[in-house]
Amino acid sequence: MRSKLPVTIEDIEAAARRISGCVLRTPLVGSASLSKLCGVPVCLKLEHHQTTGSFKLRGATNAVLSLSAEERARGVIAASTGNHGRALAHAAKAEGSVATICMSRLVPENKVSEIRRLGADVRITGNSQDEAQEEVERLVAENGLVMVPPFDHAAVVAGQGTLGLEIVEQMPDLTALLVPVSGGGLAAGVAAAVKARQPATRVIGLTMERGAAMQASVAAGRPVLVEEHQSLADSLGGGIGLDNHLTFRMCSELVDDIILLTEAEIAAGMRHAYTQEREVVEGAGAVGIAALLAGKIKITGGPIVVIVSGRNVDMGLHLRVMNGETDPFREEAAWHG
Ligand SMILES: *Cc1c(COP(=O)(O)O)cnc(C)c1O
Repeated sequence: MRSKLPVTIEDIEAAARRISGCVLRTPLVGSASLSKLCGVPVCLKLEHHQTTGSFKLRGATNAVLSLSAEERARGVIAASTGNHGRALAHAAKAEGSVATICMSRLVPENKVSEIRRLGADVRITGNSQDEAQEEVERLVAENGLVMVPPFDHAAVVAGQGTLGLEIVEQMPDLTALLVPVSGGGLAAGVAAAVKARQPATRVIGLTMERGAAMQASVAAGRPVLVEEHQSLADSLGGGIGLDNHLTFRMCSELVDDIILLTEAEIAAGMRHAYTQEREVVEGAGAVGIAALLAGKIKITGGPIVVIVSGRNVDMGLHLRVMNGETDPFREEAAWHG
């Protein structure tokens, strides 16, 4: 028998009790267009309507509420591609603490200024999340700040798992769940919750071709580094950490498959969300819709639940994608329309 996973359904239930009242219970709605396309009911979990614009508030709030008063007074710190930083800034402020947020130069300006507005101390260093993380470790050692990592942390995974609990309550007979994957905190948490309640549910991870760290790691059987490139799904950037403690193992055991998407497919997902569902969704949040549109999900029955994970996209970029641009971050030739 395999050993117990590091985050259990009991941990996730405790997190749900702890954070209720601090986070929104987001709607689960049917998608007429995707249901027609797939031939089975397809529902969207509108988690981009969460306070701060992504599910990251669940994990960050659970982590901050799990600290002692003394730890909270010292302040919290994280490296973040944006949404975790935003969530941690909000969660810290709500509990009378202060967040220091370190991020790489690849993070879009709209996310940086938003985190500053939420009262966090923002530090920009390096060209990758790994370099931003080195700055976090320096400040933890020198100033005694308490690290709340974006994904590889038990309280964060349990907090993200509360999204899975909500989904099973709202749609008890789901057959498949589509979940965006980067560091794997969301996928690990929701898979732990959903498989505890509905073991037959297939949990399918989605990420971009352009830097699929978890997929490459699961394929290799150990955490590996991948090259980072700018993508429409910027919230899915960053590695999983070579010394990953929790999410690599949980995703390896609980996530049935990880599917990769091109920039054009992600752009089509964002356009579908806007034109068919009337929702502004960032690239990372649109990968589930993108995978269904691209025909990359084998339909074995319904209902299918798609997690729409965030909406924090630069509105100028959103407009370009709505106007038909498919790869704004293409590195060679400029786009000639
Ligand atoms: C962080 C994030 C993800 C990926 O979550 P992980 O826990 O890192 O796998 C997906 N979508 C959005 C909008 C995010 O902010």
